[in-house]
Amino acid sequence: MRFTRLRLNGFKSFVDPTDLVIRDGLTGVVGPNGCGKSNLLEALRWVMGEHRPTAMRGGGMEDVIFAGAASRTGRNFAEVSLHIDNTDRLAPAAFNDADAIEVVRRITRDAGSAYRIGGREVRARDVQMLFADAASGAQSPALVRQGQISELIAAKPTARRRILEDAAGIAGLYQRRHEAEAKLRAAEANLARLDDVIAQLA
Ligand code: ATP
Repeated sequence: MRFTRLRLNGFKSFVDPTDLVIRDGLTGVVGPNGCGKSNLLEALRWVMGEHRPTAMRGGGMEDVIFAGAASRTGRNFAEVSLHIDNTDRLAPAAFNDADAIEVVRRITRDAGSAYRIGGREVRARDVQMLFADAASGAQSPALVRQGQISELIAAKPTARRRILEDAAGIAGLYQRRHEAEAKLRAAEANLARLDDVIAQLA
């Protein structure tokens, strides 16, 4: 699974549709201060399902929508799409029947985010699990933001352990365990209610 193209439209400073083609050997993006380098990395996190506005350096998620500039009015939506080369068939099973996968996230003012995988509407969770199972995702340690290295050096061992678990690709298992435990609790509550009903009938 290899990322091949990131397309931004109305995302932060990228008001016009912009393609970042990710070719073999790309090791860095350089440019003057404020030209949008960090915005590119944030777009990548965002399309992979980032849900914390603070991770986008914003107060609310709608802050990722182009807010306007001296010569341009603001936009009502932002969209980021990520193209993935899956010719090596390493994508998780549910999405592993195509050579290329396109993941799209769109946010519209007052309407929140919508996600698509391969043109099909999906939930945020589906996108997050796709990347978690592939040892990637919005919180992947492979995406290093400014200041993160010094935070890591000062981090407690439990925080460092999470980074190792993410890198090992087991972050998705925690989410599934959490969901399985919630289902188990709901089933136990239903059983208890059933016992009450049976006791009343007896
Ligand atoms: P540096 O090298 O200083 O870290 P950078 O190249 O990483 O800079 P970014 O932080 O990615 O730059 O981009 C900052 C620019 O994005 C600023 O000019 C800011 O005004 C603009 N920007 C951020 N959010 C929005 C938004 N919602 N609408 C319009 N412009 C935005």
